[in-house]
Amino acid sequence: MTVTNGTSQNGHASATLADAQELYIGGSYKPAAKNATFPVVNPMTGKTLYQCASASVEDYSAAIDQAQEAFGSWKKTPPSKRRLIFLKAADILESYLTQDAPEILSSEVSATKSWINVNILATAGILRETAGLVTHIKGEIVPADRPGTTILVEREAVGVVFAISPWNAPVNLTARAIATPLICGNTVILKPSEFSPKSQHLVVRALTAAGLPAGCLNFLPTSPDNAAAVTEFSVKHPAVRRVNFTGSDRVGRIIAGWASQCLKQCVLELGGKAPVIVLEDANIEDAVEAVVFGGLSNAGQICMSTERVFVHESVAEVFKSKLLERVKSLKVGNPNEEEGVSISGLYSPASAQRVVGLMKDAISKGAKLLCGDLEISGPNKTILAPHILEGITTTMDLFHKEIFGPYLCLAQFSSEEEAIALANDSEFSLCASVFSRDVMRALDIAREVRAGSCHVNGPTVYIEATLPNGGTGGASGYGRFGGMAGVEEFTERKIVSLAKPGMRYAF
Ligand code: NAD
Repeated sequence: MTVTNGTSQNGHASATLADAQELYIGGSYKPAAKNATFPVVNPMTGKTLYQCASASVEDYSAAIDQAQEAFGSWKKTPPSKRRLIFLKAADILESYLTQDAPEILSSEVSATKSWINVNILATAGILRETAGLVTHIKGEIVPADRPGTTILVEREAVGVVFAISPWNAPVNLTARAIATPLICGNTVILKPSEFSPKSQHLVVRALTAAGLPAGCLNFLPTSPDNAAAVTEFSVKHPAVRRVNFTGSDRVGRIIAGWASQCLKQCVLELGGKAPVIVLEDANIEDAVEAVVFGGLSNAGQICMSTERVFVHESVAEVFKSKLLERVKSLKVGNPNEEEGVSISGLYSPASAQRVVGLMKDAISKGAKLLCGDLEISGPNKTILAPHILEGITTTMDLFHKEIFGPYLCLAQFSSEEEAIALANDSEFSLCASVFSRDVMRALDIAREVRAGSCHVNGPTVYIEATLPNGGTGGASGYGRFGGMAGVEEFTERKIVSLAKPGMRYAF
């Protein structure tokens, strides 16, 4: 099947998936300096899909200049025009679902059909929701104590925003990284993951085709070897006024360090280790469904994935048997070869090996394997069936490290206090869930769990564009993306005071 890259309104040439993905700087597609490229590999097959342009510091420097130039007019573009571009882009992006998006997403990140739908349809929703924010970016008039004075607190765009977004929900997270910054009147330099440039480029394509002016959004994939250099350069560049990063806490800490050296504000959306607490009065069927969805969607490769399940000892056996029955019904494999696959391959063979290694370590320390055979299959050794372990304890790495794989681990508790202590025994703080038929009891527990979001009787994987998503510090990072919280992050308040003529002062 030939996959077209589409022809944008700006007249960019079509390309197939096998063609190189170029950089997009100042409204033009171009190769990287010195024609540098890196291979993008299909994780399911291990075969190279295409050579992608690998941006250098020189390319980033040129893009930041372009973004800085475009900022001058984009920040003054009327809200209705900005909104229309976003609304059009949402429709265009949706149309990719019946064009090349499925092949791009399945070949770059082994996406299942439902994950492809989430990536395209939910992202169209993000663009529409963000479009609606444009007339809510408001300032205020503050009463002045000084006679003859009017005080305006205006909310203004900050300038160039450097955004880094990952491969795991490549379309959604790209839109999230750039949409609010752009709608607020900023311009953006986007560094996609080296694993998924074309998937992430779908958002750039849609916004460009919808008429986003040249220079407002610049797309610069780069090879893993260049990642640190271009990121340090961009974070520290004086024209870059804000940084947002969605990725691991390892890289988040490095970026926070660079940003702190120049006292630059960042949004860091990092990893998770979401706990689920199942109380003795929970609806067990509901809890099982939510744990399976929350733990195994996208093969567990979601920051909000359910990673630790704490079940009251009185319902542990019934929960376990229903969970095992449900998990065993899931189809594992290559969604391009079989219908109805819910669990596809992981994003790299190394990731699959790491997940198995952590499970083996936990088993050697006393955890019991209830489901799964610790075997990795598939032509590139990336397919891992869902695994369930019980008896995990705080002495195991599996309890503390983000796993990012198709596994669930169970532990029992006997009191609410113990459940809360177990849930909070983590460096991560992104999200959590509590299951109980007594909603007020669950609410009390939700208030004690340290997490940016805690869902009652619903899965840990839950996000809406309007919500202020993010962690509460530590390894999950800081700052919030959605709704007005995102507007706060990517705008600045400016106090403008107006004094009446003829004012006189103390001396
Ligand atoms: P990653 O941190 O491994 O990689 C992110 C990027 O950093 C890559 O593009 C890589 O090239 C670059 N990089 C690597 N080394 C670097 C260095 N020394 N300096 C600068 N840049 C460097 O993360 P990932 O694999 O892209 O994404 C997976 C992670 O993202 C998981 O931890 C997941 O939980 C997290 N995530 C968080 C959210 C959220 O909303 N909180 C959402 C999705 C994913």
